[in-house]
Amino acid sequence: LPAAAINESKGRTLVAGATGFIGRFIVEASLESGRPTFILVRAEPTCPSKAKIINGFKEKGAIIVEGMINKKECMEKILKEKEIEVVISAVGGDNILDQISLVEAIAAVPTVKRFLASEFGHDVDRANPVEPGLTMYMEKRAVRRAIEEARVPYTHICCNSIASWPYYDNTHPSEVTPPMDRFQIYGDGTVKAYFVAGSDIGKLTMKTVDDPRTLNKIVHFRPPCNYLNMNQLASLWEKKIGRTLPRVTVTEADLLAAAAENRIPESIVAAFTHDIFIKGCQADFSVEGPNEVEMEHIYPDEPYKTMEECFDDFAVRVPTQFKVENEADKKYRKDATAEATPALEI
Ligand code: NDP
Repeated sequence: LPAAAINESKGRTLVAGATGFIGRFIVEASLESGRPTFILVRAEPTCPSKAKIINGFKEKGAIIVEGMINKKECMEKILKEKEIEVVISAVGGDNILDQISLVEAIAAVPTVKRFLASEFGHDVDRANPVEPGLTMYMEKRAVRRAIEEARVPYTHICCNSIASWPYYDNTHPSEVTPPMDRFQIYGDGTVKAYFVAGSDIGKLTMKTVDDPRTLNKIVHFRPPCNYLNMNQLASLWEKKIGRTLPRVTVTEADLLAAAAENRIPESIVAAFTHDIFIKGCQADFSVEGPNEVEMEHIYPDEPYKTMEECFDDFAVRVPTQFKVENEADKKYRKDATAEATPALEI
């Protein structure tokens, strides 16, 4: 979507992690809302795909700022000079603790009215996944405690699952189409989860940043239209592709074994998958604490993209993708055989 005209009366917003998976949705939504949007970019050489993302945002009106969130003095200077009012961090799982320095920098700059840390998942004080998922949660909890101690005004976004097939070994499943060969169903496939499209995560997150009702609150996404279990997801996808696929059970023990392998990041995803689709961590509590609200309650008129619509998007991609993959595979096999032949002769 084209960005709206920049409206200087809206608070200046700085996004860290803008080239990342979640960060891109946030920046898109910030630009669409007309906020003056600054994106923090690390100075080191950037791969072509990230350079393309940065240039795309620049063309839509984003202002690029070089820096790293773990450099406190540098961040303090940026926040002051650019008169930033809202800071949103969407740094990835490896860099959660880098945010401690950012919190210290924000605490020293009174113009900052709201900080959104890199949460974008479950309520980390509530959920208790197995390791290595738990380590990431302990880091996110440490950031929450640093925010509270520094009295930085915050909003924690708990958006639950990204709308896509929830592969247990893929960190960014919404970039991958649902299966075309067989479904891997966790447990008996009846435990439900909330799914939210990335564009809705961005759009609704941006609504919270200056809403007094979300000040110092945890905001939970719980769209009733997208509260589905694995069996329902499988049926929905079968409807879209006009075929039925075999269903294979991935047991609780299988998920725990995948988590115990401690391969990062795959085992972290396996630990979260176990927490979501075996233990039911997204819905085993009510949102009624004094410091939490439900997104659907505060913005009842905001429509959500349904899983049905998200699967429509995936279904459009399937035939082409398969064709391209098959040809590429064929070429790869041909090249690999040609290369392997001399080695076999030795
Ligand atoms: P990515 O790994 O895709 O992107 C990380 C971004 O952070 C990159 O832009 C990277 O910059 C930037 N970055 C990292 N360290 C620093 C630093 N010190 N200073 C400045 N920038 C930095 O992250 P994700 O989108 O996967 O994760 C973001 C959050 O969303 C996490 O909290 C994660 O747990 C959550 N998440 C939730 C999902 C869900 O289904 N609910 C799915 C995926 C993530 P560079 O380009 O230089 O590398």
